This record gives sequence, structure tokens and C-alpha cells, in this order.
Amino acid sequence: MSSDMVMVERAFEPVIRDLVASGYAVQLGGLVGRAVDGQVLTELIVDGQTLGPLPVDSGASDPERVRSTAGFVQDRLLECRTASGASVVWPTCRPGHHHPRELTPAGPGWPAWTCPREPGVEVPVGELTGEPVE
Ligand SMILES: [Zn+2]
Repeated sequence: MSSDMVMVERAFEPVIRDLVASGYAVQLGGLVGRAVDGQVLTELIVDGQTLGPLPVDSGASDPERVRSTAGFVQDRLLECRTASGASVVWPTCRPGHHHPRELTPAGPGWPAWTCPREPGVEVPVGELTGEPVE
């Protein structure tokens, strides 16, 4: 396996874990190319829909890569519609909250999902359980 693919799998692994915990069927596609700035491009297949190409920055740290991967996947997913035509909400927030969680601001630490209205309830990316967070 190429070192690019190892890097891509490490960037996607926590995000895929969160998607699976939310009930999605997820498969990482192969490498689909390289952007002009050197970022590696791949695809993610979520419930049969291909999201991508998604860039992974070989020059970034592991937490930075996971953060940007989570952000790209969320952006692409929120553009999708469910089978009934409703907007996708991912990751779902606390009970009664109809908005998706947001990523915590960029920083040196591991990224987390937080509530945009009531900050403080943070779940690290890769640790969503699918259960509502009180
Ligand atoms: Zn919320």
C-alpha cells in the first residue's frame, strides 16, 4: 500500500467511525489524483453516494488532516438529500436540536464536534456514539 493511502486512511478513519456510528454505510474509495498544490485526492462512498474528490494535505499534522477531512465530508453530506427529500443533518446534535453539530475552531488539539448554540458539549471526532448527547 502506498504511503499516500496510509495517510489518507489515517485522516478518514475517525470520520468513517463517526459516520458508521450514525448508521451510514461507508467505504473509502481509492486515490483519484493529486491537486496542483500537492494535496492527495480521494473519494468517500456514503450510502452509495460518492462524495469527492476530497483533498488530504500531506503537509498537515494528523489532527489538522482529521479536522479538514471531517469538515469536507460534512459539507458534502449536508448538500445531499435523504430518500424522502429532506436535508441531511450530520452529525445530529442534542435532543430537540435540529441543526448539525459543528467542528470546534482550528487549534493544536484534536478536533471535536460541538453544538453551535450551546458550546461546551464536545465530542472528539471519531467518538460519536449515535446516542444523543445530554
Ligand atoms: Zn445543538
